[in-house]
Amino acid sequence: MIKTESSFQDIERKIINELRGAKKSIRICVAWLNTDIYGPVLVDAITNGVTVEIIVNDDANNEKSISALNPSIKIEKVKVSGGLMHNKFCIIDESIVINGSYNWSNNAKNHLENIVIIRNDFELSRSFMHEFYLMRDYITSIQNRKKRNSCSISGCRFGVFNVGILGRESGQYCDSQVDIWEICKGNDHAIKIRSVDEQHLLAQLGLIDNPNHEEYWEITEENMVEVVELQRKDDQVVKDYFETMCGLNIHAIGCVAELNANEFLEGYANLMEYGINIIWKDIVYRESIPDQYLDGCGDIDDIIKEHI
Ligand SMILES: [Zn+2]
Repeated sequence: MIKTESSFQDIERKIINELRGAKKSIRICVAWLNTDIYGPVLVDAITNGVTVEIIVNDDANNEKSISALNPSIKIEKVKVSGGLMHNKFCIIDESIVINGSYNWSNNAKNHLENIVIIRNDFELSRSFMHEFYLMRDYITSIQNRKKRNSCSISGCRFGVFNVGILGRESGQYCDSQVDIWEICKGNDHAIKIRSVDEQHLLAQLGLIDNPNHEEYWEITEENMVEVVELQRKDDQVVKDYFETMCGLNIHAIGCVAELNANEFLEGYANLMEYGINIIWKDIVYRESIPDQYLDGCGDIDDIIKEHI
């Protein structure tokens, strides 16, 4: 049963209590972690066989604190300008999520803060697990990240995103067109930079007829790690496919979709409307890339026309 509780005081003690109850795993993603406060309980957890993984901001405060911590704790630091690391969440045993405004610092006790502790909401745990690993992927990908280009349309200075478009499959051989477009953030200029024809691509990438996918419908504490890994593998396989194709960083992946298919088929709409559903995005550019591009938006129409 899902159980949710909020706390506005005595937060440090409550967090430590939850950590003390961990049986399998602790994943912490916070800007600051004071190991004088949280170190002992984490070391005890490791001694009791609990896996502890930590992501923190890469700064002098953490460095000083964490350098004294037990080396068997897996710690990764996010180094980026602009305060990317603003997370304050923790997942315990894949079934308890602690989230809120509270930094895991000594100073946080002097502020008005909150946390929410949610138990047995496995869909919620799953989304935080994904976020945790996306942060970790970000850390490991920093060296391979290239600076984004600027839009090549004269007079447009916006940065461009490289978006991979998976075409729809049709016919006996599941033919599809797959392409990569440079789309600029400000004016939706779109320039096609690669295009290939494929057969049975989704099957080749293991994205259909995969019996493991059936597990996604009911996620539990027991299958959580496996399901999250499978889902992450699906994203990675498609991203790798596009990056191998173009030798560039891919910032988003999408597919052209009928947006009002039901209304159209039932006669409530005169025209079928199309758009591009973004099915994966780079964590850093999450807010800059929409979840959906609609037709009638600048050159986005050109992409849609090629896929309907
Ligand atoms: Zn542009």
